Amino acid sequence: MELRKDPITRSWVLAGNNDEAGGPESQCPYCLDESPLTPKIVAPLAPILAIPTSGPSNGVPGAIRVYPHPSPLYTVEGGADRQAEGIYDRMRNLGAHEVIIESPDHYHELSFAPEAEIAALLRCWALRIADLKNDIRLRYVTVFKNRGDLSGQQLRHAHSELAASAFIPRRVLYELRSCKDYYQLKERCVFCDILRQEERQGLRVVDLSPRYLALCPFASRVPFEVWILPRPHHASFEEDLLQRPDDFELASLLRRVLARLEHVAPSYHLVLHTSPNTRARPETSGFWTTLADDYHWHIEIMPITEKRSRSYSIKETYYCPLPPEEAAARLRDLPTSFAGRAQAKLDFPAR
Ligand SMILES: [Zn+2]
Ligand SMILES: [Zn+2]
Ligand SMILES: [Zn+2]
Repeated sequence: MELRKDPITRSWVLAGNNDEAGGPESQCPYCLDESPLTPKIVAPLAPILAIPTSGPSNGVPGAIRVYPHPSPLYTVEGGADRQAEGIYDRMRNLGAHEVIIESPDHYHELSFAPEAEIAALLRCWALRIADLKNDIRLRYVTVFKNRGDLSGQQLRHAHSELAASAFIPRRVLYELRSCKDYYQLKERCVFCDILRQEERQGLRVVDLSPRYLALCPFASRVPFEVWILPRPHHASFEEDLLQRPDDFELASLLRRVLARLEHVAPSYHLVLHTSPNTRARPETSGFWTTLADDYHWHIEIMPITEKRSRSYSIKETYYCPLPPEEAAARLRDLPTSFAGRAQAKLDFPAR
């Protein structure tokens, strides 16, 4: 596996094979037996981090556990080994790829979980991101979650993933550049301006709490796309979250949003966009001088409502048949308790 840079778009592409993870469902290595924190099958699995949760999850004492990914996209040993090949650039897939097991319960659903458990998971995301940002070789660290068969969910056990890389992924780089340009022009954060307008208009607001807002973005790429943003400005998810350890507000809003979404789309991609690693050089130190003021962390959720996307030639341009104003209105009306749980579970094969 290696990284190749497209000289036209300047985006890095992962090239090469990585083995498909997983095996028969009966051998899930992340399900716990009666001795807590001991994986059933794979002996060498020792968690990088384990965070006990306050209550039992479906009768099993709760713990969130972090492991190296069994078929990682990035590996942490050595350097990036950046090389030129004529006009082209390539480098090793330096970074980290971790599995964050959300519960001992194989079928755990965030949309149905107690808020304390979701808050502990969010804290786990923040702790891992903050820890990996101590590695100055890594320029970007984030967390994502693919839920459901249509999302390409790889491991069956309820989990999210962490990816750390020696480059900033393309979409985040676009965001950072436009946030910087907007700030230079107006001395304001573009996300704060979006928040203020959306709060005023209320047209695309899905859910709201004193500190957070969930909305369908103005130029939604897919039906029911939702972003969750903190209403007070903050560039870094992990710094923002770790400052307020007893804050369940984000957990509560995220749970409600996912519960609503699962009525319309049981499969989704979720990704956290947070500030890049400012300790890494040279791209992120000095160059992003206004980063703390111009960037604003957020979570993006892209539900998958259709088996075949009508976007032309692999998402060159998105086509979204449902206006975000209508999507937001429908999502607002959907229940946040989980009456539709049975239907959503059909997406997963029985163990
Ligand atoms: Zn399992
Ligand atoms: Zn802002
Ligand atoms: Zn984003």
